[in-house]
Amino acid sequence: MIAPEKVQYWAMKKEKENLKFRVFLKMNADEDELDRQFLALHNELFADYDCSKCRNCCKRYHGSIPASDIEKDARYLKMSKEEFIETYLGELDDEESYNTRNKPCDFLLDDGNCMLGDCKPQNCINYPYTNQPGRLLRLWSVVEAVSVCPIAYEIFERLKEEYDFKNKQFHY
Ligand code: SF4
Ligand code: SF4
Repeated sequence: MIAPEKVQYWAMKKEKENLKFRVFLKMNADEDELDRQFLALHNELFADYDCSKCRNCCKRYHGSIPASDIEKDARYLKMSKEEFIETYLGELDDEESYNTRNKPCDFLLDDGNCMLGDCKPQNCINYPYTNQPGRLLRLWSVVEAVSVCPIAYEIFERLKEEYDFKNKQFHY
């Protein structure tokens, strides 16, 4: 598995190849079969991976906190709703979520855990979304995740092998 600190560098080196592979999948992959392949690799690779040793997703993005979570998050941190927003969050965006004030995310602790504990937002739990259906229609988000998340990077590399992309890429 690639080290978390090397993902961005190698994803940049492979940018052209990854974009070609995206086109290849668009043209050749069956939607359901691709979801099954993503899911199997996701489950296999996350099974014994310790995300607290990586946390690239919390370091490279602002946290995105749904407005509907604010009350329970504030309660969890024993703060008032207003105090919680004032301390940690910026403006509410169009999708009814608040970005954290800072990047890395304000809730990332030094030990790699999330200050929000079990109240961690669903979008953080789902990241990098490689176990979610509809991957064929969201390959841009996969390519983006490949430059952040070691597991997404490895999944994309394994898929290239499964589709024998090395021997087919010159057509794309
Ligand atoms: S989901 Fe990916 S980027 Fe986030 S901590 Fe786990 S391995 Fe790292
Ligand atoms: S809320 Fe927690 S899991 Fe989500 S980005 Fe921030 S530190 Fe990471």
